[in-house]
Amino acid sequence: MDISSILQGGYQHPVSRSWQAKQQLTKSMLMYPIFITDDPDARVEVPTLPGQCRWGVDRLEEFLGPLVQKGLTSVILFGVPLNCEKDMRGTPADDPSGPVISAIKKLRSLFPDLYIACDVCLCEYTDHGHCGYLNPDGTIDNTPSVARIAEVAVSYAKAGAHCVAPSDMMDGRIKAIKRGLIDAGFGNKCTLMSYSAKFASSLYGPFRDAAGSAPSFGNRKCYQLPVAARGLARRAILRDVEEGADIIMVKPALPYLDIIADAGQLAADHPIACYQVSGEFAMVHAGARAGVYNLKAMAFESVESMVRAGMYD
Ligand SMILES: [Zn+2]
Repeated sequence: MDISSILQGGYQHPVSRSWQAKQQLTKSMLMYPIFITDDPDARVEVPTLPGQCRWGVDRLEEFLGPLVQKGLTSVILFGVPLNCEKDMRGTPADDPSGPVISAIKKLRSLFPDLYIACDVCLCEYTDHGHCGYLNPDGTIDNTPSVARIAEVAVSYAKAGAHCVAPSDMMDGRIKAIKRGLIDAGFGNKCTLMSYSAKFASSLYGPFRDAAGSAPSFGNRKCYQLPVAARGLARRAILRDVEEGADIIMVKPALPYLDIIADAGQLAADHPIACYQVSGEFAMVHAGARAGVYNLKAMAFESVESMVRAGMYD
């Protein structure tokens, strides 16, 4: 056999196999999404997300304590208000006594080293369930949407969030949030992670189940990206870099590994995030339950593919 045809000598041992990754998967890469509800004692299982719950603020210590012990370094919070009065502007989003702001403060005091990101959107808080303000004809009214989203982001930063992450997909919101953070004195205290390339995916179902955020009419296809739109995704990534994002995110992850690779190239000087969304998580579990693969092996395989895709060099 020819010398150059022999590759297996390079990965014959678990240690040499681990060296084949350009970037090792580490615990600090993982950010745990947490659904915070407005009943402080809640621990309500989400049927479509195996093992995941909606949590009340007073249950966060028992839930997160063991995970922080094991090396969890960051979380991202999603508010799930069930008892509030929703309106057209999403007023409860930054209610000082609402679930997200209460959770930020609680987590800061419970776990001083934990990095706390907050999803920023209006859909969980608007009576119509859309991510921005609406015109009378049902289309998005962009300018007031962006102003309100920036206002909410600044409120989370003031409450102590280390990172704000707008998922709404309104045009121009990265610039508005960055400006808002700087003007409020948080330019150097709060990271801005943009859901830059967020696709109108079929994989968000379990999340909407968990967060109660399905739109009451229509869909989100006028602001989330069309599934086949690689060019739009690339333009959105470049725009958000230009507008001041600190981290660029692609969402969902597994069906969009090409976009993650694009982000690694287009935003080569930024950390790249990707969101393994609720439907992906549910699929990994469903396949394991059906005996298709081992759960842990597939959980690692899916996440390692994302790390690999984002490695541009
Ligand atoms: Zn939304």
